[in-house]
Amino acid sequence: MEAFSPTPPSWADNAVHALQFRCPSCQAASGEAQAVWINRRAPVYTHNHKRKWQEFYHCGCGAAWWGWSSDRPPNPWEEDLAEAGPV
Ligand SMILES: [Zn+2]
Repeated sequence: MEAFSPTPPSWADNAVHALQFRCPSCQAASGEAQAVWINRRAPVYTHNHKRKWQEFYHCGCGAAWWGWSSDRPPNPWEEDLAEAGPV
């Protein structure tokens, strides 16, 4: 699955951190993104010892953005992400 490719897709290069977990350009939800990529090589530990990752989204409007996995509201990608299990 492309979302777990070890190498970041080119569109992730210019991704901006979206604090609202939606496209900062057009406000589209993460579930409407055309592609997603998870940076699983660099997990960060939260205060309660849970891991979180950067999730990169490529919006249909062409913008690329990312947010922390811990901030993600339920979305259609979730099943795929859960399937892969913990690292
Ligand atoms: Zn957008």
